[in-house]
Amino acid sequence: MRLRTLEIALEGLEGFRNPDPAREQYATPATLAARLLHHAHLLGDIEGKAVCDLGCGTGVLACGAALLGAGRVVGVEIDADALAVARRNAGHLEAEIGFVQGDVRDRGLIEGLGAFDTVVMNPPFGAQEPHADRPFVDAALALAPVVYGIFNTGSVPFLEAYTAGRAEIEFAIGGDFPIRRTFAFHRRDMLEIEVEIVRLERRGQGAP
Ligand code: SAH
Repeated sequence: MRLRTLEIALEGLEGFRNPDPAREQYATPATLAARLLHHAHLLGDIEGKAVCDLGCGTGVLACGAALLGAGRVVGVEIDADALAVARRNAGHLEAEIGFVQGDVRDRGLIEGLGAFDTVVMNPPFGAQEPHADRPFVDAALALAPVVYGIFNTGSVPFLEAYTAGRAEIEFAIGGDFPIRRTFAFHRRDMLEIEVEIVRLERRGQGAP
């Protein structure tokens, strides 16, 4: 599937109904989600693979992975309302995705999911709750040997330090993340947040 075709399919998906600022519920723009998935696909990490989307929100990354021929897709999300949207989105695309409601900080839940080939995620950046992305990194490396994540620009040094001895970090793609005015505290209609797509490859056990 071409990048543009994937973008168009993901653009048609439903977004958050009542986004919760404390959980940083910003839907990943279709262009950014498509770039992450396309890149992962080119590196052989999607097609025929077991893929887990952590903090799947409305399921855009999970849906895209399914469209690119992932063998098994699971989305994990704490918020029931977001999951309802994700289920509708998967249904709309006739994509078979298993959705699990739960907290990525719950080790029992993560262990119970079994092993995956690839994790894709757009975790909270920690703007509302400092270090909110850390449990996502930990859970991702526990689940799969290869992880693609969207982070604030400039996160690579932090990721390198945080995962030292556990993962190799590779910067993949940089880009803007245009966020529509979602919350009252947003002062402008469009915010451009600079982000980077990072690939982590597990070394050793991956556990912190
Ligand atoms: N990946 C989605 C949503 C990104 S926003 C997308 O690309 O559109 C981050 C998501 O992580 C939100 O849906 C939020 O509800 C979820 N989340 C935040 N903390 C979580 C946690 N501890 N466990 C599971 N999901 C969480």
